[in-house]
Amino acid sequence: MTNEKIKSAEILCVGTELLLGEIVNTNAAYLAEKLAGLGIPVFRQGVVGDNPERLRAAMTESLNRADLLITTGGLGPTCDDITKETAAELFGRKMYFDQDSQNKIAEYFASRGCTMTENNTKQAMMPEGAIIFPNDRGTAPALAIEGELAGSGETKTIIMLLGPPHEMIPIFEQHVLPYLQKRTDYVIFSRNVNLFGIGEAAAEQMLRDIMVSATNPTVAPYCKIGEVRIRVTARAHTEAEARAMVDSQIELIKKTPVAPYIYDIDSSSIEDTVIRRLRERGLTLAVAESCTGGLIQKRLTDIAGCSDVFLGGCVTYSNSSKVSLIGVSPETLAANGAVSEQTAAEMARGVRLALGADIGISSTGIAGPGGGTPEKPVGTVFVAISTKDGERVKPLHLTALRDRATIRTHTANEALAQVFSI
Ligand code: ATP
Repeated sequence: MTNEKIKSAEILCVGTELLLGEIVNTNAAYLAEKLAGLGIPVFRQGVVGDNPERLRAAMTESLNRADLLITTGGLGPTCDDITKETAAELFGRKMYFDQDSQNKIAEYFASRGCTMTENNTKQAMMPEGAIIFPNDRGTAPALAIEGELAGSGETKTIIMLLGPPHEMIPIFEQHVLPYLQKRTDYVIFSRNVNLFGIGEAAAEQMLRDIMVSATNPTVAPYCKIGEVRIRVTARAHTEAEARAMVDSQIELIKKTPVAPYIYDIDSSSIEDTVIRRLRERGLTLAVAESCTGGLIQKRLTDIAGCSDVFLGGCVTYSNSSKVSLIGVSPETLAANGAVSEQTAAEMARGVRLALGADIGISSTGIAGPGGGTPEKPVGTVFVAISTKDGERVKPLHLTALRDRATIRTHTANEALAQVFSI
């Protein structure tokens, strides 16, 4: 492998179905983001059909402009899969039969009880001197050629990846990323600032000055349902240097108006932070759910080992189960309804007492599509928290969200996030 550093790259996605608009070019978006993360500037992205002349022309142009060309697609066993052969020609390499690749392809077929066809052998033909990146998820390996571009005297690199994203991404992560890391001068380091209770547009507005002025580290918001992450990324010659740059940018972010919305740094989810906070404080949690139907408890139990702080809970979907399991009073239900501040508070208190937990949380609401009334339209939700000091209820007006799944996800987020205030 050469140690020459890569200063520029292009991406070329091969496939007539991309040109016809039959599939969306997600590979280009994925690779562009990864290369940006590595600090390798991408000059152009292109799409070309499975046509030998046009593919050769597109590859030649890209390799004349950039140090590195990454292609996806056209590595399959059929005669219109020509990426490898075209690249070999451009680098003046002959194709040879690679027994090792052939053995892996045969193993792949055998492990699935399938018979290997004659044309699969084409996938074991490799350009001489190619670096081969094995493929655990399919038959064709990915590969790279580095060296002199025939007739140009210039040293270039081409990396050829599979078309299907479920094969391309694991090969990229396992093999290509480490390869490229050795060929860049930089280390990239990122951290995420987790925000809750604020939308992406509002967060962006509050951070606009920092986002516009910061080029290294960069500051960029990413949005999940009901949650915003601000990713801070620095590029430097050492990890320690990049880390210090990121940390001082985060200190600046903590001085902006987003500060009250920050609930963690580098948390993978709200529930992850909830479990960690409970553990740090030696507190236990119980959950009573109505409209979220177990979603809150599913999310908590997605975190392995949570049983030291999450004791359990129940899904009390009917009025009778709210009464019999967690002691909601029939009078409360009759006077206020199941979707009410009072019921939410009694559910949180009831489950806390029933399980002997320090904290109880609850959800009750109308997730739709039916069940709404003029007084309580779809999206009317209450979440509550109960501790030995009493109950607190938060009404949510999620009417604008309309769809059931989004309302439930928002409700689960809000119910869980109540624990941040303890
Ligand atoms: P195969 O061995 O499956 O033929 P290949 O490397 O030859 O692999 P292609 O035949 O070009 O890949 O594409 C196979 C499938 O991969 C496409 O039908 C499509 O579903 C997916 N795919 C290809 N290119 C892209 C792309 N740029 N973005 C997203 N998906 C893609």
